[in-house]
Amino acid sequence: EQCLLEVKQLKTYFYTEDGVFSAVNDVSFVLKPGETLGIVGESGSGKSVTSLSIMGLIPKGNGKVEGSITYQGKEIINLPEKEMRKLRGNEIAMIFQEPMTSLNPVFTIGNQMIESIRLHTSLSKREAKDKAIEMLKLVGIPRAEEIMNEYPHQLSGGMRQRVMIAMAMSCTPSILIADEPTTALDVTIQAQILDLMRKLKQDYHTSILLITHDLGVVAEMCDRVIVMYAGKVVEEADVRTIFYEPKHPYTKGLIRSTPQLKGSKQRLYSIPGNVPSIKEMPSGCSFAPRCEYATELCHQKAPELITVGQNHKSRCWLNVETGLLAEEGA
Ligand code: SF4
Ligand code: MG
Repeated sequence: EQCLLEVKQLKTYFYTEDGVFSAVNDVSFVLKPGETLGIVGESGSGKSVTSLSIMGLIPKGNGKVEGSITYQGKEIINLPEKEMRKLRGNEIAMIFQEPMTSLNPVFTIGNQMIESIRLHTSLSKREAKDKAIEMLKLVGIPRAEEIMNEYPHQLSGGMRQRVMIAMAMSCTPSILIADEPTTALDVTIQAQILDLMRKLKQDYHTSILLITHDLGVVAEMCDRVIVMYAGKVVEEADVRTIFYEPKHPYTKGLIRSTPQLKGSKQRLYSIPGNVPSIKEMPSGCSFAPRCEYATELCHQKAPELITVGQNHKSRCWLNVETGLLAEEGA
């Protein structure tokens, strides 16, 4: 099957005063044309580091990235900054949780959009301005011409995120990486931004890599899902399978703790404990300290990611046992 982006055995390490620690540990996945792939996990699970590694945004002095990342068959891992910059924006664009940090507060929206468009195209200033206005209208910004002359702080959070999306889409990237794009927004605005992303995906056939801690967002947006925990993929499946037949205790815990998916009368579950720090990874299964099913084996030996169904993988000793039983019965 054709794939647009293929990540193989990605490992990202950070240098710290206490030594070198891995934040992403052997992550592999593919992104197919036109699909939305969700990467889910709590903060500290390695999902943002995965996306920054793909974009070549891990500063050289802070860490290193190993493995393979191919875009349309071409290796892009550790590409020289000049080539990477061409790819970013043109082919792979990214939007973040808080657009205020990606927008420059001292320049008008128009200036930033024109500059960004000209960086990636051969358009004249005049043409880039028209393009910017066209894009602002496309993402549903009223008074686009006026907004061009305004500064980021004059806009609401939702409007700023629309501007970021307009900027990201202005070079018609084939991949949009969206890292918690709606987390900072209130529920109504969040729904509007998700609608907008869905519409753009249809109109432009853009593939989306959606990074989120919110399974409600995943349910609405994604075709397939990767669940990450402590720098590793712990479960992977299509979106229906993730919600209806989750295999990994962590995925089950995430689902139980998602308010949109449970009746509001039920008391909301929360997974006890925290994601381990990259400096203090437990030996054995990294979820064991928080897992209600953990056994002696779990604490001693880390399980592998195994196939548990059609296009369905899980990393849990419980699944290995049922996998074996299934084979014996066959
Ligand atoms: Fe829980 Fe053990 Fe499965 Fe880890 S391997 S998720 S500790 S049951
Ligand atoms: Mg993050």
